[in-house]
Amino acid sequence: MFEKILIANRGEIALRIQRACRELDIKTVVVHSEADREAKYVKLADESVCIGPPASSASYLNVPAIISAAEVTDAEAIHPGYGFLSENADFAERVEKSGFVFIGPRPDTIRLMGDKVNARLAMQKANIPCVPGSDGALPEESDESVKIARRIGYPVIIKAAAGGGGRGMRVVHTEAALKNAVSLTRTEAETAFGNPMVYMEKFLENPRHIEVQVLADEHKNAIYLGERDCSMQRRHQKVIEEAPAPDISPRQRARIGERCIEACRRIGYRSAGTFEFLYENGEFYFIEMNTRIQVEHPVTEMITGIDIVQEQIRVAAGEKLRQRQREIEWRGHAIECRINAEDPFNFMPSPGKITAYHPPGGPGIRVDSHVYQGYTVPPFYDSLIGKIIAYGATRDQAIRRMRIALSEMVVAGIQTNIPLHQELLVDARFIRGGASIHYLEQKLLQAKKLDESR
Ligand code: ADP
Repeated sequence: MFEKILIANRGEIALRIQRACRELDIKTVVVHSEADREAKYVKLADESVCIGPPASSASYLNVPAIISAAEVTDAEAIHPGYGFLSENADFAERVEKSGFVFIGPRPDTIRLMGDKVNARLAMQKANIPCVPGSDGALPEESDESVKIARRIGYPVIIKAAAGGGGRGMRVVHTEAALKNAVSLTRTEAETAFGNPMVYMEKFLENPRHIEVQVLADEHKNAIYLGERDCSMQRRHQKVIEEAPAPDISPRQRARIGERCIEACRRIGYRSAGTFEFLYENGEFYFIEMNTRIQVEHPVTEMITGIDIVQEQIRVAAGEKLRQRQREIEWRGHAIECRINAEDPFNFMPSPGKITAYHPPGGPGIRVDSHVYQGYTVPPFYDSLIGKIIAYGATRDQAIRRMRIALSEMVVAGIQTNIPLHQELLVDARFIRGGASIHYLEQKLLQAKKLDESR
């Protein structure tokens, strides 16, 4: 096992990774920007290294500074967390070439999955069902795109091959709008991701977002830890996640899970990973694979009892997976609410000093957060300030516990989206379970219209 790991991230996930390391008796080095000097996980780490000014481009994305920090502190491995450099194949390669272990998949796997066009092709080969769409990238010739869209049928969605974080997508309802939409998305993709390649998928009108968590080692072992439902989304970004997904039978879980681990074996996958699907009329359609730990991993941890971050570390150290598929049991239900520093209804970021902070507690409540009273949420990064995870023997109990947790939680001085979560936790459609990915946007739109008509 490693003696020392460098954590190349910030916020709640930096603290989460550090907790996993401490439990494994591994020393930690945290790198941080000038804006994060006062962070709790920086003080708790065995060592810390300031790697640059607040802007991510000069700090958390500063590869040479991160590698030097690992060198001067004698760290053996680097955990990238999520976001930032976590799905950057060149970074993973630099880490390995510099003699450190990258806690994640092999660089070529990251590269393959980072290009969504190639990922789709690889998955089709591995018998994973995909959303109907173009066979590869859309050709320059725009008449060809028209033909492809006719074959698929409208509405279609144009997506950037290098897209991520819910950006670089455009829905097209009519042939008249197609050519313009393709060229706009191409231009945006070039600017945002440095890669103009786009592809086309059928736009599914009423799907749910269901994803499968997998773990794989370097010894050809792979297991699935079941699925999560992440359909509550705004602007293609997840707001609430839960596990298991409502109304997915054990048989469906096993069938899609088996296919995912078979795909892992074929592509030589290593570490934790997530196969993301849209689910409509009883069918799964692959959309992308995330080759990193995800924000919503705790709901799976709660119902399986497996610490996914620790397993990532063990696998990176060359160990074999400790669990076999038949030993995995799913017990109870878990829901996660992402707490963001933002206006709950117009979603403007709300950085600033937290003047009072009372996290919730009690049976089945887990809070993953790095903030504290007196902490200043910097304006430079993602607005996620923590996550509440509620566990219950049943979905109903998890919902009840989450409502209590939200009512207990106090974050003063800044605005948070807690009021939005409170509304959703009493929303009849949410309570029934199985709402589609468009539900939250529609609900927000209706509320806005109602507001304007007053
Ligand atoms: P990203 O990498 O930016 O997260 P994804 O491909 O994972 O992009 O898609 C993010 C979200 O966008 C999905 O969860 C879903 O809400 C929506 N989406 C993507 N593809 C489709 C599609 N073909 N039909 C309908 N919605 C889609």
